Amino acid sequence: MARGDGLRYDGAARISALGNTFLAKFLLLIALVIVVYLLFRGSRRVESQQPAPPQPAPQHSETTGEDMVRCSICGVHLPRSESFISRGRFFCSDEHRRLGLERTNHG
Ligand SMILES: [Zn+2]
Repeated sequence: MARGDGLRYDGAARISALGNTFLAKFLLLIALVIVVYLLFRGSRRVESQQPAPPQPAPQHSETTGEDMVRCSICGVHLPRSESFISRGRFFCSDEHRRLGLERTNHG
């Protein structure tokens, strides 16, 4: 009785082990297919959802390299170190600086 139970139990365990192996391989195969499918789908989604390249702000185009300022009279751009500054305004030359001051004085 004890022997029979033991053999029967052993046999059942062996069968279930074989079944588990088959089931495990089957599930593994399905999981593999799902993973590959998701990876393929994910990669395609990433490709389709590529973010647009960052566009440089147009305001920074005038301030490349050295600090550039704009003459209040003729509108020419020149480095800040070469500009004439008066009352918080920039001018390309001393002449334009005087013109700017005259305009400011006259309104
Ligand atoms: Zn000027």
